[in-house]
This record gives sequence, structure tokens and C-alpha cells, in this order.
Amino acid sequence: MNGPKLIIALTKGRILQETLPLLTMAGIEPLEDITNSRKLLFDTREPAVRLLIMRGSDVPTYVRFGSADMGIAGKDLILEGGSEGFYEPLDLNIARCKMMTAVPKLYRPSSGRLRVATKFTNIAKKFFAERGQQIELIKLSGALELAPSLGLADAIVDIVDTGKTIKANGLVPQYTIADISSRVIVNKAAMKIKTALIQKVLVKLREVVEIHSADKAEH
Ligand code: AMP
Repeated sequence: MNGPKLIIALTKGRILQETLPLLTMAGIEPLEDITNSRKLLFDTREPAVRLLIMRGSDVPTYVRFGSADMGIAGKDLILEGGSEGFYEPLDLNIARCKMMTAVPKLYRPSSGRLRVATKFTNIAKKFFAERGQQIELIKLSGALELAPSLGLADAIVDIVDTGKTIKANGLVPQYTIADISSRVIVNKAAMKIKTALIQKVLVKLREVVEIHSADKAEH
């Protein structure tokens, strides 16, 4: 098929498992098994649409710069990296979790500056600034939950789903900073240039999300 092609960037791993059924219901089914392939770019049953698979943190970057026209990205990454260069027209209501602060079970606030360990430094900075609380930020890329028990931090800011990870490390949830779910994002220039194609995909996805969300609410 001639005419514009649409590239949609997707997050690999667990979130892909939740995304693929929605895309399939919207007619954007990959022509081969995405989950077991080393390829990164896939054709779909919708000839104008191709899927690009990458780490979640790269999805907003690809869409911001227009190398992908659309993407499906966690709200955590959108809040952390900012939404310059793209719109966020649709909440897919999947991969839901919360961005929270968590503290040791036997937490006693110290009088000095609170030391906060996190991967999400921008989110943490903004949250504590709005509360008027001075903090010392400690940027980590993993093993956050260990930071308080090893004396590296007083609190953490992280994603909490079932709460099992923080509980297993002697932490309890404290404040909810934001509700997180996967969002459809669209490059601003692509929205102008490929309007018809993008709107077609958005209309289908919106219908699918309504059905899917109603199903989830019933069960
Ligand atoms: P849980 O033990 O169920 O609270 O899961 C917490 C961990 O799972 C977090 O530290 C995240 O790394 C990861 N996680 C859970 N849900 C999501 C999600 N929707 N998006 C990204 N990471 C998630």
C-alpha cells in the first residue's frame, strides 16, 4: 500500500503482553510472534501500520523526535521525562500502578533533610518541592527498596503495584504521588501530517479501551 506509514513504538516485556490484545482487537495484529523474536520492527495486518519494540524509557524519546509517530508509554516515564514534542490523547487503562513514597515500617522522621532514593528524580523533586520539604536526592537505577535498610536513604519514590516488593523489604507505602497507566502518545508533527491515519487508529483504540475497561470492571 502506498501513502503514509505509521510507526508505533511499544514497550517490550510485561507491558507488551497487556498491549498486544488491545492492538489485535483494534486490527493492528503483528504478522509474526513479537514476543519471541529478536527483530525490532514488525508489519501488522493493517498494512499502513508497523510496530517498533524497545525499552519503555526509550518510547517517549522516539516519539518526541518523530522517529516513531505514536507510542505506548507508561505515565511514570512521561511524568519523569516531560511531554515536550508529543500529545497524550488516550489512557489505555492497562499496566495500572501507583507512584508512591515508601518508608521503613519503623520510620521516625529525622529533623535534618530527608534523603530520598529513586530512579524518578524529576517526579520526586517536584513532589517534595510542592510540599515545601527540602530533600537530598539519591539517584539509583535499581535495588531501590534496599536503600533505607542499608542506611542510604530515609525514603524511596518508586512504582507500587501489589505492594509485595516494598513489603518484602520492610517498607510501607506512604504518599501516592500519581496514578500510573499506559498512555498513547503522538508526535505533534505526525499528528498534523498523518492526521487521517492517526485518527483512524485512535478511534479504534478508544473503542477497544471502552470495551476492555467495562470488561475489567465487571470481573
Ligand atoms: P509490586 O511488588 O507488585 O508492588 O511491583 C513493584 C515493582 O514492579 C516496581 O518496583 C516496578 O519495578 C514493577 N512494576 C509493577 N507495575 C509496573 C508498571 N505498571 N510499570 C512499570 N513497572 C511496574
